[in-house]
Amino acid sequence: MIIPTEPIGSIPRPVALVESVAKGDSEDPALAPLYEDAIRDTIERFEATGSPVITDGEQRKYYDFASYCVHGLGNMAPDGFTIPFADGHTRRLSRLTAGPFRYRRYADSYLELALRYAHVPVKQAVISPSALSLMYPPQGIRDYSREQFIEDLLREHETEIRRCLKKGAYKVQVDFTEGRLALKLDPSAQVLNSFIDLNNLALSRFSPEERARIGVHTCPGNDLASTHSADVDYAALLPSLFALKAGNFYIALAGERDRRQVLEIIRKHLKPDWRIFVGVIAPMDPRIETPEDVRDRVLEASEYIPIEQLGTTDDCGFSPFFDNTSTSRDKAFAKIQSRVRGTAMAAQLIGAHP
Ligand SMILES: [Zn+2]
Repeated sequence: MIIPTEPIGSIPRPVALVESVAKGDSEDPALAPLYEDAIRDTIERFEATGSPVITDGEQRKYYDFASYCVHGLGNMAPDGFTIPFADGHTRRLSRLTAGPFRYRRYADSYLELALRYAHVPVKQAVISPSALSLMYPPQGIRDYSREQFIEDLLREHETEIRRCLKKGAYKVQVDFTEGRLALKLDPSAQVLNSFIDLNNLALSRFSPEERARIGVHTCPGNDLASTHSADVDYAALLPSLFALKAGNFYIALAGERDRRQVLEIIRKHLKPDWRIFVGVIAPMDPRIETPEDVRDRVLEASEYIPIEQLGTTDDCGFSPFFDNTSTSRDKAFAKIQSRVRGTAMAAQLIGAHP
């Protein structure tokens, strides 16, 4: 009996890399060896945890999980959509100043490098169309309508996923942290439902076989030990989220106040062809979970989700924003090791007493 376990994506970057990038241009070719060292070290340490699926730790995703694809473009300004965190700090997305909307880089460029070093399957996270849609200014852009923008956006996103699948990504995970945030900013759910519709326009372009390798990640945000939407009830989010045409869902759960209530909602909406990866590690919890903690969380989840549809993950990446080193690399990997060991312990128990 094996229960699949996968990471979300980011690992805190080495402090020396963060400091070097802060001094100049993130794309400076002189930084290439530093990035490559960080990726090689991340993959080595990831594999040492025993994780059957790994990532490159998003060591090159600059400036964050959302804007990596457009960072450095001439038609982007830094004063876009503001993400408000619960502790009062904010992060901003880029703002599109002129059409056409094009990616500067696709995430398969990261994957390609990671695959050179990896000995186990590598998954790749990409940003959702709905997050990028926030880059189009509310007042519009002269000679570049929102409709044109959406058409370009969907094509770029589809291209990115296809390139990752083709290069051999074990899974492509669409990061959808703004789903829960949308409900916080607009409890009427109008914005959330427009996000779901937009993302489904993209997901509809893939076959059921392709969608079995595509997943969606939901979480309440994670930056500097703070969240942006942890107070939004999953009961309001999950029924809409589960309308997404994906084969896998990566759901933050370890940090939730009432995990059983969330598991109950998942059970109610579960469709037979889905795999639900529940979060068993809370990246912002300063305590390192033990394998036994993880084992118990998996056993709890198995009361609600059939074992053949259950997987485990971390609640979020450990450092979705490049410059956040509030969690150490050592701690991130120790937590991941607990996820891997605890998931295997639960699988063994369930296998022995099905
Ligand atoms: Zn997340």
